[in-house]
Amino acid sequence: MRLFARAIDGLELPAIEKISEASQDDPFQVLIGTLLSARTQDATTAAASARLFQVARTPGTMAGLSVKQIEKLIYPVSFYRHKAAHVKATCRILVEQYDGRVPTTMEELLTLPGVGRKTANLVLIRAFKSLKNICVDTHVHRISNRLGWVRTRTPDETEQALYRATDEKWWPLLNLYLVTWGQNVCRPVFPRCGSCLIREHCGQVGVTRTSKA
Ligand code: SF4
Repeated sequence: MRLFARAIDGLELPAIEKISEASQDDPFQVLIGTLLSARTQDATTAAASARLFQVARTPGTMAGLSVKQIEKLIYPVSFYRHKAAHVKATCRILVEQYDGRVPTTMEELLTLPGVGRKTANLVLIRAFKSLKNICVDTHVHRISNRLGWVRTRTPDETEQALYRATDEKWWPLLNLYLVTWGQNVCRPVFPRCGSCLIREHCGQVGVTRTSKA
């Protein structure tokens, strides 16, 4: 993890990291940005979030938009119709049940439409400064397995395995380090193992073809 901290220095950061920084870790923007980011390129997530937050920055104002309006603002994120419906429904719940605030527990966050453990963990880490959570997305799942830290089939299994396999002090940073590495170096297809600064510590488990670059 210390190597990762040095290795990601200067690399392009994930969209959610930028949204969090720009909004000073506003829980609502972290929540909505993460909802939009699923299976979507970072640049698309960043642009869609910016358009949406320009029109509505609070659960109250966003709940006042129609699903169609939200769809138009967030297009072309993947599954934009589903996500628009989830955003609208989530905002209504925040207004009606949580006084316009984002709830602060995993159990409550998981009741919001479209919110799974990845989104809930990221909100808890970024917006509420939790030191007890690990956010596992597809990059964290893939790289943890390639490194040999865990041997798991799903991101949820990886999250639980990482709690056992890693030192607690790194938990809040695991997502940032591994997502940045996954987008820039340890990519899903043709990882850049030849120029990887972590290579001597990596089992390269399941890696069969690497980038020639
Ligand atoms: S050596 Fe290859 S598989 Fe291992 S972390 Fe680096 S890029 Fe990923």
